Order: sequence, then C-alpha cells, then structure tokens
Amino acid sequence: MKIKEILADGRPSVSFEIFPPKKDAPFAPVKEAVERLARQKPSFMSVTYGASGHAQANTVAIASFVQSCGVTALAHLTCLSATRDSIANETSALEAAGIKNVLCLRGDMPKDVPSTPPGSFRHAVDLVRTLRASTSFCLGGACYPECHPECEHMEDDIRHLREKVEAGLDFVTTQMFFDNNIFYRYLSKLRDRGVTVPVIAGIMPVTNGKQIARICKLSGTYLPSRFKAIVDKFGDKPDAMLDAGVTYATEQIIDLFANGINAVHIYTMNKPEVAERIMANLRGILSDDDR
Ligand code: FAD
Repeated sequence: MKIKEILADGRPSVSFEIFPPKKDAPFAPVKEAVERLARQKPSFMSVTYGASGHAQANTVAIASFVQSCGVTALAHLTCLSATRDSIANETSALEAAGIKNVLCLRGDMPKDVPSTPPGSFRHAVDLVRTLRASTSFCLGGACYPECHPECEHMEDDIRHLREKVEAGLDFVTTQMFFDNNIFYRYLSKLRDRGVTVPVIAGIMPVTNGKQIARICKLSGTYLPSRFKAIVDKFGDKPDAMLDAGVTYATEQIIDLFANGINAVHIYTMNKPEVAERIMANLRGILSDDDR
C-alpha cells in the first residue's frame, strides 16, 4: 500500500523505523525484531539505508521481509555518493521486491570529502526529481523542526524543503525532537510557507541516556530541562532509563494526538520491547472504537 493512502484515511498512524544488519552481520536478530514489531500492527515500517555503517544492499532485503510480515515497507534511499546508474539499479531492485514507498534522502556529508564529485546528486531534491520522473513510488523526505545542522537559517531550510516537496514528495518525516512545542511552531511555519503535505512526527524513545546526550549535541536537538533531569538521574541505570524513556515518548505521542497530529514515527533502534511498551500505553487511544 502507498503511505499517502494510509495517511489520508485520517486515523492515528504509528509507524516504526528499523536498521538492516551491518555488512556481514547475521539477519536473524533483525528479522526477529521485525516479526515482533509487525505484531504491533504499525501503519508501516521504514528501513534505513547505509546509516551508521549498515549495508545498503540489506535495506531491500529487510524491506521485503517487512512486507512478508504483512506490513507496508518504506525503504530509505540516500543519493550523495550515488550515480544515475546506481540509483536506477536500486529502484529496479525495490520495484522487483514489491516496495511501493521510498524515503528520498541526501545522506550525511562524509567528513573527509570536501565536496561532492561533479555529476552526482547534491541534494535530496535531485533524487526526488529523478524518482518522480522515472518511477511510480510514493515518495517521502526528511525535515528538521530545529533546522538542518548545515543550514544557517530556518527560512532557507524551509525554502529548500518546499522545493523538495514541489519536486514530488507525498509526505515528510521529521528529525527527532523532545519538545512538542518546537514541532507545533515548525508545523505552523511550514503551513504558512505553503508546505501542505502530511508531516509525520519522528519520536525517539530514549533508553540510553549517555548516547542521546551525545547525539543531541551533534545534531543540535534541544533537550528540555524535564528531559535533562531524567537523563541526569537515570542515565546510568538501564532499567530506570527504559521506564523513563518509554514514559517520556508515550507522553509526547499522546500530546501530539491530543493536538490533532495523526501520524507518529517511532525510531525503535531495533528494540521491539520499547515499541511494545509504548503501543501498550496507547492501546485505548489506537483502538478501533476511538478512531
Ligand atoms: P537535503 O534535503 O538535501 O538537505 C540537506 C541540506 O542541504 C539542508 O541543510 C538543506 O537546507 C540544504 N539544501 C537542500 N536543498 C538545497 C538547495 N537546492 N540549495 C542549497 N541548499 C540546499 N541518513 C542515512 O544515511 N540513511 C538513512 O536511512 C537516513 N534516514 C533518515 C530519516 C529521517 C526521517 C531523517 C530526518 C534523516 C535521515 N537520515 C538518514 C539523515 C539524513 O541523510 C541527513 O540528515 C542529511 O544530512 C540530510 O539529508 P536530507 O535528505 O534532509 O538532505
């Protein structure tokens, strides 16, 4: 199914993100995680591409496995180090696997390469244009409620996002955020600037306090004092941090639903137990009677 159709039906949508195995790592643990996550009946599951050393070829295999578990898959695809031919090969493989949805991404700039080679895709918008012209995928893209770290001004970042949407995106998914007010202000700005596609709110349940402090420092994500207090107090106690991280993410999601946001994407970090606990907390909210 195409994700734009899932989002159009107006019911609360909860989706999950998963990483494929790293190069030469076994598939079994990832497949087990997918099977457990599929039992939670997410609206769809996204599979990352090449991020943090995860083998790119494994994205298609895991996305295909997601669909064999009865869940719509969204395959991520990055373009920074791609060629026209490599993108054509990737899209053929995705089409052959029955994948209908692609998240079009630039990918992170490698630290040791000062500029992208001539002729390559420079921005995600180049990939969106290529796929819109040559395929019938439902296309998603990334957006940044706290501005992309390489962009100095939010207005410029939103202008670039609008260009990406006008090139053919059907929806966008946000970078993680820990303060819903930042998301609400951003969404209102997007609507004012003419970005009208569905915006899926990306939620990261934090179960490793130290790791998240480092990630947020790198990405510039704001940590509210209530969140910082939790990490300071429980960051070194895995069981306590799990309880606190699940509760914090659940509260963020309930607040989003209460404020009319219908689509939430959970960055599961391949931990089905975290997603299971959040979904258990949302059972009444997501039940058919309440939709
Ligand atoms: P772009 O949309 O190209 O934007 C990148 C920067 O360029 C921004 O600062 C933007 O303002 C600027 N820009 C855009 N267009 C123009 C233009 N025409 N002229 C000048 N400047 C412009 N990474 C992975 O490697 N694998 C993944 O699977 C993955 N999944 C992700 C999923 C989500 C939901 C998110 C939010 C991020 C994901 N990332 C992933 C990280 C992503 O690749 C990085 O954040 C990357 O730095 C930017 O990707 P983008 O697609 O947003 O790029």
